[in-house]
Amino acid sequence: MKSKTLVQAKEDHGLLEEIAALPEGERVLSCLQCGTCSATCPVAALLEHSPRRIFAMIRAGMKEQVLGSVTPWLCSSCYDCTVKCPAQIKITEVMYALKRRSIREGLANQNSDVHRFYQLFTEIVCKHGRIHELLLLLKYMALRHPLSMLSQGPVGLRMFGTGCMRVQPHRMKYRESFAKIVDKASLLEE
Ligand code: SF4
Ligand code: SF4
Repeated sequence: MKSKTLVQAKEDHGLLEEIAALPEGERVLSCLQCGTCSATCPVAALLEHSPRRIFAMIRAGMKEQVLGSVTPWLCSSCYDCTVKCPAQIKITEVMYALKRRSIREGLANQNSDVHRFYQLFTEIVCKHGRIHELLLLLKYMALRHPLSMLSQGPVGLRMFGTGCMRVQPHRMKYRESFAKIVDKASLLEE
């Protein structure tokens, strides 16, 4: 087991290197494995690997397991762990970096619910310039959980009642300019 971990660390040095190259990213090497991040995380119960374990896995060179995990995708970017980490590791920024890297390396779990949700969210924002919650929920539920659509109806109605959801999308004033920015960003990404 020990030799396997060492081999993985050698093979996947690039992931640790990339994380360490983030602003103040070298702090990842100072992780105390104290678990404060995991204890404070509001979505910890849903995570495949806790934030504490993700840092242990990065340092152990377990690239494929880290980048194939849905943990970074479920991170809600609340920054609570970042504020409380005694080693001052920018945990939330690391989660973003892991998402970027998992897409670049083709290791993101494209079939997971959360990944599909992100894809739909991005498609709608790129098209309309802003998110349209109703469209997002309809598309997501129809694609992923069609049988649950009826049971979720009352929740949707409550959201209409509180003004959280609108029938028509917000119209962005300079949508053409926004489309150019999106095109340029896509080109740079390639
Ligand atoms: S709170 Fe910081 S030091 Fe503690 S386990 Fe999490 S990342 Fe490591
Ligand atoms: S930023 Fe992400 S990992 Fe950190 S506590 Fe919030 S949800 Fe959990």
